[in-house]
Formats: sequence, C-alpha cells, structure tokens
Amino acid sequence: MKLKNEVVDASNKGIGYDLYRALFLNYGKRGEKAFLYLFQRRVKKYLDFFIVVGRNEYIVEDFFCTCPDFQLNLRSREPCAHIIAVEVAKILKFYDEINTYYADFQKI
Ligand SMILES: [Zn+2]
Repeated sequence: MKLKNEVVDASNKGIGYDLYRALFLNYGKRGEKAFLYLFQRRVKKYLDFFIVVGRNEYIVEDFFCTCPDFQLNLRSREPCAHIIAVEVAKILKFYDEINTYYADFQKI
C-alpha cells in the first residue's frame, strides 16, 4: 500500500490548500479527516509507534491501523484517515515527537 502520487506531490508543498484538495479528491471524507488530524497536530511520534489522537488513540504502523474503520469497513485494503495522516506527516515531518515508548504506559 502507498499514498496516491497526487497526495505525495501536494504533501511536498506543505500544509495548504493544494494538500487539502488532493486529500479530498483522492480519499474523500477520510482525506478531509486526515487533513484535520495534521492541522490540529494530532499525529504523535513515540519511540515505538505513530499514534493519531482521534475519538480514541490509534496506533499506526506500516499502513496498518488499530481503528475499526480500517479493520472492518476497509478490510485493511485501503488506508483510513489515520494512516493517511501519518504518511503525510512523515513527508512533511509534521508531528509531535514524544521521547518515550507508547507501549510502556498503555496496555496493548
Ligand atoms: Zn485508522
């Protein structure tokens, strides 16, 4: 799995209208949500995982996400909003770095 090229290109230009538009056109509502997660700095990079703080906290790693949307609706075949947000955040290097292991204080 990888991000659509149009989204990757737009990501290289930074957080702005082009990125919002590319996300919405390529991923619809999930793209819009991903943009909000980025914009509101809800993407956190722990030493072990990326976490996106939505209604709950979701662990995202290598195009896998712990959210029900990804596992049930998308059947792990297409990226959910959290995966999109993390992949774009990696390109932009736009995330909060937290110098601890997420697994240390969560029961996962
Ligand atoms: Zn997800």
